Amino acid sequence: MAARRLVNSLPRRKKYLILTAAVFAANLFLDRFTKYLAVRLLTGRGVIRLLGDSVLLYLTGNTGAFLSLGASWSPPVKYLVLLYLPLAVCAAALFHLIFFENRMGRIVIMASIAGGGVSNLLDRLFNNFEVIDFLNFGIGPLRTGVLNVADLSVTFGAIILCIGELAASRKKTAPAPALHDAAPRGTLAAMGTCIFCEIAAGRVPATKIFEDDEILAFHDTSPQAPVHVLVIPRAHRRNIFELDPAGDDGIAGRLLLRAAELARAQGCAEKGARFVINAGDDGGQTVDHLHIHVLGGRPLGWPPG
Ligand code: 5GP
Ligand code: ZN
Repeated sequence: MAARRLVNSLPRRKKYLILTAAVFAANLFLDRFTKYLAVRLLTGRGVIRLLGDSVLLYLTGNTGAFLSLGASWSPPVKYLVLLYLPLAVCAAALFHLIFFENRMGRIVIMASIAGGGVSNLLDRLFNNFEVIDFLNFGIGPLRTGVLNVADLSVTFGAIILCIGELAASRKKTAPAPALHDAAPRGTLAAMGTCIFCEIAAGRVPATKIFEDDEILAFHDTSPQAPVHVLVIPRAHRRNIFELDPAGDDGIAGRLLLRAAELARAQGCAEKGARFVINAGDDGGQTVDHLHIHVLGGRPLGWPPG
């Protein structure tokens, strides 16, 4: 059931699929091609020095992982740590990108890491565990190990990913304005362009069925079912993605509970109802103020369009 739902989601994920496949293939191809050139051009040539001694080109076979780590391990440990585990990680990363990831930057970075990673694993699989390395960077005595292009994809990808995560977690810890506060000055809401803020402020009429100091519920002007109620927080949050996990958890819970109570009050508890939160363009959100649709009073089809 869950698997079928995942597969059904693929047509809607076309652009993410194409990006994942293109970046993965580009990194894989670049590594395979440069290794092919390295074998063709560097075999028996000793060390080629470029830019003084900053870049050295020479062919080596690395039977371990990055910087020869694990070259002396026994075969079963080597297979597990250097082949099966990295393969599983790459497969898990690709699965995540194909079905779940919506951030383009994240897709590019993770698909680059997976492309480079898989290319090195192909060496191990088909080249008797020997990964072709041919690049060495450094200044004077300060030098990297001998690398290949896949190592660069994996290393720089991982660094950028870590920096991104750090930046995102910093952003998250910055306090969001409290939900009870009036909309911040200068925002769309404060300028009076958010229709639901206008309804909450009483400047635009609505058929209200519930209100307290933080939540408001009213009938939808274009009902899609005999019962179609919208439940909103008074304070402006664009959508569910804009709720702050650190400070908005209480109101998120109260909105849900209020929606359930109102559905019950509208007579929907026995036969059932649907609670919908659209978010963003793909989610079909047309009013950029968080709201829960409460729909009921007739059987509702599935899946939604
Ligand atoms: P969304 O498409 O963003 O998930 O849902 C927005 C809902 O708000 C739609 O069902 C739409 O009919 C409803 N809506 C839009 N403008 C108004 C309005 O001015 N008053 C009320 N009561 N509902 C509105
Ligand atoms: Zn608003």
